[in-house]
Amino acid sequence: MKPLAKITDGLQQSFIRSVTARVNEVNGINLGQGICDMPTPDQIKEGAKKAIDQDKSIYAPFGGIEPLKEHIVDKVRKFNQLPVDGPDNILITAGSTGAFVTAMFALLDPGDEVIMFEPLYGYHSNILKLRDIKQKTVPLFPPDWQVDFDRFEKEITPKTKAVIITTPNNPCGKVWNKNELQQLLRILEKHDLYAITDEVYEYMTYDDHTHISLGALDGGFDRTITLSSFSKTFNMTGWRLGYATGPAHIIEKMGLLSDLFYICAPSPLQFGLADGFASDDTYYEELLRDYDKKRTMMCEALESAGFYVPWPEGAYYVFASFEPLSDQPGFADDRQACETLIDKAGVGSVPGSSFYTNPEDGKYLLRFCFAKKLHELEEACDRLSKLAVKA
Ligand code: GLN
Repeated sequence: MKPLAKITDGLQQSFIRSVTARVNEVNGINLGQGICDMPTPDQIKEGAKKAIDQDKSIYAPFGGIEPLKEHIVDKVRKFNQLPVDGPDNILITAGSTGAFVTAMFALLDPGDEVIMFEPLYGYHSNILKLRDIKQKTVPLFPPDWQVDFDRFEKEITPKTKAVIITTPNNPCGKVWNKNELQQLLRILEKHDLYAITDEVYEYMTYDDHTHISLGALDGGFDRTITLSSFSKTFNMTGWRLGYATGPAHIIEKMGLLSDLFYICAPSPLQFGLADGFASDDTYYEELLRDYDKKRTMMCEALESAGFYVPWPEGAYYVFASFEPLSDQPGFADDRQACETLIDKAGVGSVPGSSFYTNPEDGKYLLRFCFAKKLHELEEACDRLSKLAVKA
């Protein structure tokens, strides 16, 4: 038989997912994949049930249903301060991954170059590989993950077309501040580059960190595709609903591409969201309070287990180093440490190398997700803290 397409060579299940299977085998607590298993708000569930009962089962317009787009227009104006004209600036997609893929097709040709910051979200990098886009990376260093803008600018060539940032960052929790975003934008303008900003953790920022969208800065909107999602905000990662906001002419092309790839995001679920879209600030305040508490719990447990923990500024992961434990058996590298925690504590995490192009860079790092039901997180933290006593 003839071989499969070359782009499938080397494709394998991400660690983010395979850890889930491994943890389930031992009936452990999964702090690996960012599943986010708290309940979806009732109003959204009721809205979706009603839409299903009313047979709102046919294709949605490829850009998404109007009532949901109207809510999003309102949200991105108020929360993100994006200068949108209206629904033509919005595309509803199958998760923010759907939006990311269509953005990659709308903006880039094979051979173009893209710059990303490491640690990075592996799905971004792997999707670029499928498109034969050359990737360059600029490192962010703990504990505060500062950006070296000179180094960034040196990576730009005539073939560079776009930059990808994730803020708050998955896995390290960095929240890009206004000064950094302004410096970034100046360089984008100087070299005429696009930006794709993945902002799916936008409501989770801690201490004095606040979420700022690059597209909200003066001149930023015209060259930025802002990606977001309902998955994390409303605990509905499996519904696969996300969206992109950007200049209408780019959003239109992305919509045409999304139509070709999968026609539209699921209609009844879009109606459910339109019905239950939280416009009330208290929902987001409670969400943040809950995550803030869980962040403290997770960081303190890892610290007492002997990890070096740069506390995340945002998102719901802790990207911690076990280098201080690396002379102990079972902690030689990230994969082994991940296995050790599953074996000894029944707690799943994601090996750090999954977030770097050079696996060595993540050798002593593990990512822990704290978007868990409180009692499960408490149990996981308890087991991790006790691990230190045994070690
Ligand atoms: N974004 C989530 C994470 O980083 C989930 C990704 C996935 O399930 N593949 O864990």
